[in-house]
Amino acid sequence: MKNKRYYLTPGPSELYFTAAEHMQYALRNDLGSISHRSKQFQEIFQFTTAQLRQLLNIPSSYHIVFTGSATEVWQLLLANCTEQSTYHFVNGSFSSRFYEFAKELNRNAQKLEVPFGEGFDISEANIPAETEMICVTQNETSAGTCMPVEDINTLRKEHPEALLVVDAVSAVPYAPIDFEQIDSLFFSVQKGMGLPAGLGVWIFNDRCVARFKALKEKGQVVPPYHAMDTMLKNAEKHMTQATPNVIGIYTLGKVAEDMNRRTVEVIRQETVFKAATIYGLLERHTKFKPFVREEKHRSQTVIVADIIDEDYTAATVIEKLEAHGIVVGKGYGEFKDKQIRIANFPTHSKEIFYQLADVLETL
Ligand SMILES: *Cc1c(COP(=O)(O)O)cnc(C)c1O
Repeated sequence: MKNKRYYLTPGPSELYFTAAEHMQYALRNDLGSISHRSKQFQEIFQFTTAQLRQLLNIPSSYHIVFTGSATEVWQLLLANCTEQSTYHFVNGSFSSRFYEFAKELNRNAQKLEVPFGEGFDISEANIPAETEMICVTQNETSAGTCMPVEDINTLRKEHPEALLVVDAVSAVPYAPIDFEQIDSLFFSVQKGMGLPAGLGVWIFNDRCVARFKALKEKGQVVPPYHAMDTMLKNAEKHMTQATPNVIGIYTLGKVAEDMNRRTVEVIRQETVFKAATIYGLLERHTKFKPFVREEKHRSQTVIVADIIDEDYTAATVIEKLEAHGIVVGKGYGEFKDKQIRIANFPTHSKEIFYQLADVLETL
């Protein structure tokens, strides 16, 4: 066996420190073999959704269903709840893919786009009155930028007619998003939740359901797999349409329970503290600087550093950190040689951040 490496990569990332234990319990207790139509599965489904409601403060009127990924939810939101027009805030690779999905489905997709590493001045968004869905990526994992929660609330106030949907893949559970101000939120579990990939969580309200029903009545083709009404019918029975990732759903519930014991408030405080440690170091460092200039648009959960020393590339920095057992991500796309990306998720302890800071100081 290789020495244990510690993953500060922005997804997949280091597993939550209790995840392996819960997965072992699941395997020993035959959760890989039980029927997904059994009472035992219904109880797991119920437990996991209850823990998620507590952790993320999801109102009881909002529905929670499981998918295979967050990428799938981009498609499901568009196919189930829109007919013609969407609006997207684009500032990196994930928000851009969401926008491209809308175009591929022949929606009239409009966008406000700003360069990689910048946040939005939302007053610059020219959102047409007929827009059916506004799509926000709260934390753009590729660039290390975030949209402040107040901006999301402002969008709601100014565009109450449109469905407001939030990609929160690398924001959960950190970002204190107010569900009453949005219609849908989704994430996959291999980032902030610290689970193996292969499971998505999609949360939506009855405004989304009403929109789906109206479109279906009008004759719009809805996807046979994961049509919203089929998902809901199953979720009401604490079940899924197809055979799901039972071990993933079980482990998610147990990890969420562990996080609830720690409390989301403590997780948030620690996240802010760890982020401040690294951003502060990057500001002082001679070989790095924070990529995102504006503080209010700096992600707390994915920290992107520009490498400003001619003699250093991302590969050299990554290699030096790996010698200490720490794995960080390289920059995204065209930034792959000159940036590193550091995840700051609930499983990443203060101790590992001190260790990371020590190694970065010596470079
Ligand atoms: C990782 C990520 C996705 C895609 O998640 P999958 O689980 O791979 O589908 C979507 N949006 C954001 C912001 C992400 O960080």
